[in-house]
Amino acid sequence: MDAINNIVNFFSSPFFRFLLVLIRVFFVVLWVSIVFWTYRDAKNRGTMAVYWSIVTLVFPLLGLLIYLVVRPPELLEETKERDLEIKAKESSLARSGVVCPACMKPVESEFLICPYCLKKLKKACSECEHALRLNWTICPYCQTSQ
Ligand SMILES: [Zn+2]
Ligand SMILES: [Zn+2]
Repeated sequence: MDAINNIVNFFSSPFFRFLLVLIRVFFVVLWVSIVFWTYRDAKNRGTMAVYWSIVTLVFPLLGLLIYLVVRPPELLEETKERDLEIKAKESSLARSGVVCPACMKPVESEFLICPYCLKKLKKACSECEHALRLNWTICPYCQTSQ
């Protein structure tokens, strides 16, 4: 009977009660950090941060799992960076100063056709293939009559 008494004593001992408190504290801390992490991650990805932190507050593990599946794959900053890159490319094209007369989008001076609206911009020289203005009758590069 001593063994059983020992077990009963252990479960009613202050040490065991302390252990239970520690375990509870651990889970509460884990729970709070899941909610906090979800909030911050959702905010970084530009998705509904408050909504997702409430979901994980109510269903900590299930909510987190669902969030990890449906969250946007891209961070908001990555999206912004990519948009900036595209804008920089467009503006470097625009800085060359040539725009399509039909759709006003930036084109390069050597383009024969507008890649946006397909308007014919230049003709190629029949001899040297340089891009020539449509109204030129002679190629200024090789002097071939067009
Ligand atoms: Zn165009
Ligand atoms: Zn030519």
